[in-house]
Amino acid sequence: MKALIDQLEHRHEMSREEWITLLQARSPELEQELFSRARAVRRRYYGDRVFIRGLIEFTNHCKNDCYYCGLRRSNLHLQRYRLSRQEILACCREGYDLGYRTFVLQGGEDPAWTPDKIADLVAAIKAAHPDCAVTLSVGEQPRAVYQLWFDAGADRYLLRQETADNAHYHQLHPPELSPENRKHCLWDLKAIGYQVGCGFMVGSPGQTEAQLAEDMLFIRQLEPDMVGIGPFLPQHDTPFRDKPAGDLHLTLFLLGLLRLMLPNVLLPATTALATLDPKGRELGILAGANVCMPNLSPPGVRDKYALYDNKACTGDEAAQSRRSLERRMQAIGCQVVVDRGDHISL
Ligand code: SAH
Ligand code: SF4
Repeated sequence: MKALIDQLEHRHEMSREEWITLLQARSPELEQELFSRARAVRRRYYGDRVFIRGLIEFTNHCKNDCYYCGLRRSNLHLQRYRLSRQEILACCREGYDLGYRTFVLQGGEDPAWTPDKIADLVAAIKAAHPDCAVTLSVGEQPRAVYQLWFDAGADRYLLRQETADNAHYHQLHPPELSPENRKHCLWDLKAIGYQVGCGFMVGSPGQTEAQLAEDMLFIRQLEPDMVGIGPFLPQHDTPFRDKPAGDLHLTLFLLGLLRLMLPNVLLPATTALATLDPKGRELGILAGANVCMPNLSPPGVRDKYALYDNKACTGDEAAQSRRSLERRMQAIGCQVVVDRGDHISL
């Protein structure tokens, strides 16, 4: 198996079958070997620096109905909210003072936040904080809308493909959503010039190793700047409420593999990982991740951004979580830095 890891590290193409073999060979010994190589690769490009992004969950209204997500429009039990432009700018000001130099605006596909309003918001954040990057994560849009936001100053865009396997995509989404459009959006974003992040849930219902192999092949082809992966976690008001959560060790293994496949990728240790395990963020960094995305949303709305149950750190004040993250990263030999944390080219 070490031969396959060598192959990956030396940037050789891997076939679908080789990916499946590697995923099936996962063992505690192979994990340790992989993680130590992944850390060495991360160190070569980014040192022991951990970049932080201030996550602002600015609306939980969504017109879509993804089966796994608590924000889906059919969930009538969720109390909906949307932050105002002023509230979002206040989150950014607080974040700036705490050393954040990237703000991630994430939300459901909320028709009330029109493309023009989002463009105006992006421009206002960039005017107030010209030394910061703005990342958007608001789903599938026509290319012209992505272009409008890019022209307004948005730097990055996060849009997970969720699963690169078409049949599996249809198991996770209602018929009006298509894997073709999802992927098309990612190519549009890249062509426009965004730093692009794709990604997938680990252990989403029905997922097989062959489908994970498909995701790795797709990511290799897209060559994104960022990859967001985290375990699937059930949400009690969705059709997948009784499905088991994704596996911690498989998630960490995939993080390590992503670091070897895309050595300079920006790779977050996600909130879902921190929700699955109290040491999730540390374990993610030790497996090769180099980004954390603490929550900058006002504490009063965090519970309502209920993608999944038991979300980590919903009660912490921004300042408190910033300090605790710094300590936790220091304890594993890493430093949280005040930096935009852009993707570096090879
Ligand atoms: N509406 C946007 C952004 C918000 S959802 C979009 O869909 O792209 C952000 C991410 O949360 C999704 O891409 C999905 O991968 C993740 N997510 C949603 N529900 C989840 C669940 N139950 N468990 C784990 N991750 C989930
Ligand atoms: Fe909406 Fe995104 Fe949730 Fe799908 S995953 S229901 S698009 S918020």
